[in-house]
Amino acid sequence: MKVTDHIKKAAGKTLFSLEILPPMKGKSIESIFHVLDPLMEFKPSFINVTYHRAEQVFKRKTDGSFERVDIRKRPGTVGICAALMNHYKVDAVPHLICGGFSKDETENALIDLSFLGIDNVLALRGDAPKNEKYFQPDPNGHHYAIDLVKQIKNLNNGVYVEETIEEGGKTDFCIGVAGYPEKHFESPNPDMDLMHLKHKIDAGSDYITTQMFFDNQKYHQFVQACREVNIEVPIIPGLKPITSKRQLITIPSLFHVDIPTDLAKEIMLCKTDAESDQVGEDWLVMQAQDLIKQGAPVIHFYTLGKPKVIYNVMKRIC
Ligand code: FAD
Repeated sequence: MKVTDHIKKAAGKTLFSLEILPPMKGKSIESIFHVLDPLMEFKPSFINVTYHRAEQVFKRKTDGSFERVDIRKRPGTVGICAALMNHYKVDAVPHLICGGFSKDETENALIDLSFLGIDNVLALRGDAPKNEKYFQPDPNGHHYAIDLVKQIKNLNNGVYVEETIEEGGKTDFCIGVAGYPEKHFESPNPDMDLMHLKHKIDAGSDYITTQMFFDNQKYHQFVQACREVNIEVPIIPGLKPITSKRQLITIPSLFHVDIPTDLAKEIMLCKTDAESDQVGEDWLVMQAQDLIKQGAPVIHFYTLGKPKVIYNVMKRIC
């Protein structure tokens, strides 16, 4: 079922969704089931699966010289989506990125997804690979997420990149895009970021999932700013627990979001992992309860590595 249909069917009740990463290459699918099994008690409406592009590494050859090779540390996004749908009978939302994909490869990936009965796609640009400073599209690929949205929308209308196809079958994807309550890090200012977001919606996106935030005011202000420019689609807040002192540094640097002083101070005072887990859990419960009260359509939990904390949060708010 489409994400937007889940929201319509809920008729104002806040739903829950989860986000997972495919396991590192070499690990089994059981590692994903192990994380998700306990959380399925709370009946998430859908589960997102992230996409990780190849990284370039230098490998030493037998003659002593080096060659540059692409390695994908976390392959399997589409396979995991199919496995989740099969195993849990839950809707899966694969993330699809522009980076590393030509338009033809994107088209083929979309055809696979539609054959698998996947109804949703989160359309993203992706970031530059670790060893590159700026995002560079594939020579035959897309520069921005909006271009990917347009391609998916075209396929929904039976228009293929492959020009020889006439009267091609139509897909029916529900298209999600990313939004940034604290602005995307490359954008010169919030207004221009909002303008680009509006363009993604006008191009046919059906809903927005936000970058994580730790201060709900940022989400509420973002929703208000979206509504003021006539972005009317559902805006799904993304939440993640902070459970260690290290994350006070890694989260702002990786995701370009602020951590409120009160939360940072409480984490700094913790002496054990159990204490910091508790602080992260309590903060997330406070955020989730407020979002439910304010009528958020869905709360999307970035499950990344802390399923026990998410479990405890769900237990307290459900
Ligand atoms: P875009 O919407 O293309 O925007 C990128 C930047 O370009 C923004 O600053 C925007 O303001 C600007 N911009 C847009 N259009 C134009 C234009 N026409 N001219 C000039 N500037 C423009 N990354 C992954 O690799 N895999 C994932 O699975 C993944 N999942 C994510 C899930 C969520 C919910 C979020 C919020 C992010 C996720 N990301 C993922 C990270 C994402 O790929 C990065 O944040 C990336 O830098 C931007 O992606 P985007 O889709 O928002 O890009």
